[in-house]
Amino acid sequence: MLTKSDFTRFLQCPKALWLNKYRKDLLPEEPDAQLQRRFDEGFEVEEQAYRLFPGGMSAHAEEIKDQIAKTKALLAEGTKVIFQPTFSDFKSGLFCRADIIKQTKGGEWDLYEVKSATDIKDVYIPDVAFQKECLEDAGLKVKKVFVIVVNNQYVRKGAIEPKKLLKIVEVTAEAADYAKAMAGEMAEAFRILRLKKEPAVRILRQCHNPYDCPFIGYCWKGIPTPSIYDATLSEANLNALLDEGIIKLGDVPEAMIPKSKRKFYQSVLAGEPQMDRKAIAEWIKKLRYPLYFLDYETYSSAIPAYDGYRPYQQIPFQYSLHVLEKPGAKVKHFEHLATDNADPVPALAKELMGQIGPKGTVLAWNMAFEKGRNSEMAVRLPKCAKFFKAVNARMLDLMVPIRSGLYVHPDFVGSASIKAVLPVMAPELSYDGLVTEDGAACDDWPKLVGLLGAPMTPAERATMKQRMLDYCRMDTFAMVRILEELGKVAR
Ligand code: SF4
Repeated sequence: MLTKSDFTRFLQCPKALWLNKYRKDLLPEEPDAQLQRRFDEGFEVEEQAYRLFPGGMSAHAEEIKDQIAKTKALLAEGTKVIFQPTFSDFKSGLFCRADIIKQTKGGEWDLYEVKSATDIKDVYIPDVAFQKECLEDAGLKVKKVFVIVVNNQYVRKGAIEPKKLLKIVEVTAEAADYAKAMAGEMAEAFRILRLKKEPAVRILRQCHNPYDCPFIGYCWKGIPTPSIYDATLSEANLNALLDEGIIKLGDVPEAMIPKSKRKFYQSVLAGEPQMDRKAIAEWIKKLRYPLYFLDYETYSSAIPAYDGYRPYQQIPFQYSLHVLEKPGAKVKHFEHLATDNADPVPALAKELMGQIGPKGTVLAWNMAFEKGRNSEMAVRLPKCAKFFKAVNARMLDLMVPIRSGLYVHPDFVGSASIKAVLPVMAPELSYDGLVTEDGAACDDWPKLVGLLGAPMTPAERATMKQRMLDYCRMDTFAMVRILEELGKVAR
């Protein structure tokens, strides 16, 4: 059988389809925390979408065969709205579970696919076209096709209102257009499924597009660092290099390297960092003491957790602040972490206002993020607006000397992320043993405050809290150390 997920997987990469059918042993044992959170979020949005269809009946069951049987029974009973109807046709070999179907007055059916995104993405069209085909194989005539997405202009006020939270977008014409090409695609997907050996597929740009492929660990084994994939080359150039058997970045002809990656490439060829010492010194001259190194951790969710917030709005719940009063002084540390299930912003703002003084440069890494949160807090808390506006006016981005190529190290592998830069510039510091992934703090916080997950014991909460504090502290201490290292090379 070819399922809806198989088909979308095939469209991303035929090899991913084959591996997912025959080499499930290569899949990670559990989805990572962020992926799991996306799944959970999807279910929550789906629950809200069901509320748009009062009287709908669910075909959900533990076993697939029971879901199919339940769907048939609901159809036979004349049910007008069915959630999670499941169809399987042995003749066509297609299987799919839709989100919602609703019978029209004329006896045809409208199909609704629920997504937790805020806009319609191209990949949704093959998905709904496949479902339409599947429903029609099962004898249902599909009239219209819709995708339900989250309305990011909705602002929560009290209980969630699904009619305001969600947007229903018709994609009937797009699905019909896609259907013309679909027979060929499906035939090719079935051909891949019949192969005895995994198909030979070149790694080009598909492994993270549109989704992170779970087989990266398998397919990318043996690819050197840095490689041709670290220079944002076009697909045509990647193909040309692979034809020549070139995989190491250092073997790529210089003319092929995009301008934005030239300095990185040169540092790889030289095998040592490339620095513009004068420009780094000029950049450092802009700093005014005391220096404040600031980092926020934020939480966002499709369904806003608190009144006054929009879907996916980033809500700061934690910060770390290192303060350096003057050159050579002992660095001081301040921190804040909300531990109650309530809007964390008022208390966070109050505490921060007591710790950032009226003068001095505020440093952040990739400051657009911190500035954005400050601007939002200024709107949310008018009494704090002056403070946050002043902080933004005094903010500088410590990532700039790295991102703009004033200091380029081959071991940054073309990245300006603090996780890539810190272990190279200050190898005595490490994120190892702290939270392992970016974004993990925002996965932990809703559990810490009881927004999500099972209740925790006091000991579990204490461990989680400490882990979050350690991680955020590392982000700002990393900035202190990176600035020190930049100071050493400036002249
Ligand atoms: S990692 Fe890349 S090449 Fe391998 S199966 Fe996934 S998408 Fe295809």
